[in-house]
Amino acid sequence: MAPPLIRDPGNHYTRINPETVVMALQATTARTETPSPGLAAAMRVNSILQTTLDIHTVIRLFANELSDLVNYGGLQYRNPAYSLEINHGKNARHSCSYRLVVHEEALGELTLSRRRKFTDAEMHLCEDFLCGLVYPLRNALLYLSAVQAAHRDPLTGVGNRAAFDLAIGREVEMARRHGTPLSLLILDIDRFKAINDTHGHLAGDDVIKAFTAVVDGVIRKTDILFRYGGEEFAVLLSNTARHGAELLAERIRRRIERSPFESSQDRVPVTASIGVANLEPTDSTTSLFEKTDQALYRAKHEGRNCVRVAPLSC
Ligand code: GH3
Ligand code: MG
Ligand code: MG
Repeated sequence: MAPPLIRDPGNHYTRINPETVVMALQATTARTETPSPGLAAAMRVNSILQTTLDIHTVIRLFANELSDLVNYGGLQYRNPAYSLEINHGKNARHSCSYRLVVHEEALGELTLSRRRKFTDAEMHLCEDFLCGLVYPLRNALLYLSAVQAAHRDPLTGVGNRAAFDLAIGREVEMARRHGTPLSLLILDIDRFKAINDTHGHLAGDDVIKAFTAVVDGVIRKTDILFRYGGEEFAVLLSNTARHGAELLAERIRRRIERSPFESSQDRVPVTASIGVANLEPTDSTTSLFEKTDQALYRAKHEGRNCVRVAPLSC
């Protein structure tokens, strides 16, 4: 069984076990002996971290408490499985990294850095202190995973309507605060009912999955794609003004039209209609959505397989 915590400063590995440390701590407390400063601090931080399940708050509280114990410049927590990278302070040349594992479950990697080298005594202090982090961190990751699952569409893997409702609110607020443009696309597959009727519901599901992959391949990394419902999708384009959004919508439309969608070797012709709108000063999240939806309605009404842009309101 892999040790729960592995320290990896440079090429030198030390293994410590937070469960043993926690048991030792409890035994020490029962005998009213004084634990080492690192373990006493670990017990303290453990009870502080248990007050939240938000991963960002867990790491921020941990970083604050650690700065009372060890002088460091930057702290980074990374967990690629959850697409997480949380940074505090400034990264510097000398670093020590800890790969966190509990019961063979990877909990990510924590890196401390500063301009001076860390001493052995400081690293041991950090290791003791990390014992206070691992279980609250595991709980926060379990919570995050439940939240992520509730916001993901199981068929396509992209965000669902609940995720979209949160994201549009957040993006509108950011655009207003930073004075940056924001645009929205709503896409709807044309005559999808006929695809289901001709090729069957399972083939319809495959078309929805392939459609998602095609759109995802056209948009930028900063654009966010959601399956809003059935055969309807939304793309939030931060930092994108009206004209750029229209060009992107047209590129998506063309790519969909030319992509080979198949059902048991039969070619399934797929096209989509797209509504486009940009955030104007008088818009709310609701009005942005509504005018994009009206543009989509026009695209359907004016023949499908086309892009329509909402008129400017002022
Ligand atoms: P339009 O061009 O006006 O958009 O026509 P349409 O046929 O695409 O629109 P309509 O709203 O009449 O039909 C949408 C169909 O999408 C009906 C519904 O059964 C189907 N649908 C919704 N969700 C799914 C899904 O997850 N899988 C499959 N296979 N079909 C779905
Ligand atoms: Mg449709
Ligand atoms: Mg529809």
